[in-house]
Amino acid sequence: MTSQDTAEIAAEGSSADYGKLQWRILLGFVLGLASGLLVYTFARDAAWVESVVAYVTNPIGQIFLRLLFMLVIPLLFSALVVGIAEMGEARSLGRVGLKTLGYTVVVSSIAVVISLALVNLIRPGDGIDPAAAQELLEQGAEGASSIVAASAESEAGVNQVVAIVPNNIVEAMSSNDILAVMFFALFFGIGLLLVKTPKSGVLKDAIEGVFEVAMKLIGFVIQLAPIAIFCFMFNLTAQFGWDLLFKLAAFVGVVLLALGIQMFGVFPMILKFVAKKSPLAFFRQTREASVMAFSTASSNATLPTALRVADNELGLPRRIARFVLTIGATANQNGTAMFEGVTVLFLAQFFGIELSLMDQAFVMLICILAGIGTAGVPGGSLPVIALILVGVGVDPAGIGLILGVDRFLDMCRTTLNVVGDLVAAQTISTLSPEMAEEGEAMSARRDEP
Ligand code: ASP
Repeated sequence: MTSQDTAEIAAEGSSADYGKLQWRILLGFVLGLASGLLVYTFARDAAWVESVVAYVTNPIGQIFLRLLFMLVIPLLFSALVVGIAEMGEARSLGRVGLKTLGYTVVVSSIAVVISLALVNLIRPGDGIDPAAAQELLEQGAEGASSIVAASAESEAGVNQVVAIVPNNIVEAMSSNDILAVMFFALFFGIGLLLVKTPKSGVLKDAIEGVFEVAMKLIGFVIQLAPIAIFCFMFNLTAQFGWDLLFKLAAFVGVVLLALGIQMFGVFPMILKFVAKKSPLAFFRQTREASVMAFSTASSNATLPTALRVADNELGLPRRIARFVLTIGATANQNGTAMFEGVTVLFLAQFFGIELSLMDQAFVMLICILAGIGTAGVPGGSLPVIALILVGVGVDPAGIGLILGVDRFLDMCRTTLNVVGDLVAAQTISTLSPEMAEEGEAMSARRDEP
């Protein structure tokens, strides 16, 4: 079976079915939001609400996410290995890989500079009422302490770089150390590329088989998304209502403004001037992936949809799309880098800590790296933020302040992360004309009646 067959299987049954699913997901979102707010308004402290959340909506949401995460390692591993093995030659991989890396560092830097400039300009942390802040700090204290504990275990500084190379791949997989797994997959893919024996061919086919099966299973799990999203929204609004949003309005506003500038200012410029693609057409063609990213708040969970969009809608060369999107789901997270920058500075302002220019430069550098190293899962940013806060001398328990609004902002930043990956795939495809014929052939085939 060729790689084209594989991708066709993966993409099969998408458009029409997926169009309907998208509406069901939106319906789940709106119904969950409305019923959560109703409950919050009329039966906030009722015991039954707590039971519904604890025994029905929370477990359903968790099961949905766990089903997706269960498939992430096999999917990431097989997609990356096959993607690289298919790059054909080590030389072309070198070029696409270097372009991807260069693109990620430049665009993430722009993102972080925008967000730090906005926080310094608007200073959202100054406007918060100290009593409300204390109340939120107490509400979030429990969640914050477990996050802080988790981040204390993770590596810092140069060790963080060393830890990308796993010393035991099984351990890396079992602890969901996605970057280390990706490193192994990259390495393994290069090995597979260099060994051309009948047996290595069989192995490559088998790994492609794993990819096909993982995609099929994710297709099943995604059918549950409307119910799961209803549950997520219900939990959020039944517990917090709009209160938290109001209290942290300034913070939320700055995050959204920063994300908006990147999404509707920087991305269209890259698309128009570098990728030579109409931004409007691009946004229209990628909306399935945006809706999925917004609803799941997970780049990893959105990866199959993003792959499908790159194939079916954008008609990008498959080898580039698969490589850039798979790596990008973890490593190219503009929204996450921006959010981390805004949050750290916001909390510093909030606790009255003045950060020098050097401190801010440190925050900037870490946020760029953090955008590369943050897991593409809901709330993946939180441990990283705790780590940066310790680095700049701000009480990491302050993270409790933002937990209440994190889910909503997570949905927004994940959308930027995923759209950013697709912008990267589009740009790198344009910058790699030697691989473009494949994409053109596909678009032509798709346009046939
Ligand atoms: N939820 C984000 C993602 O999956 C990561 C984060 O910023 O928390 O892309």
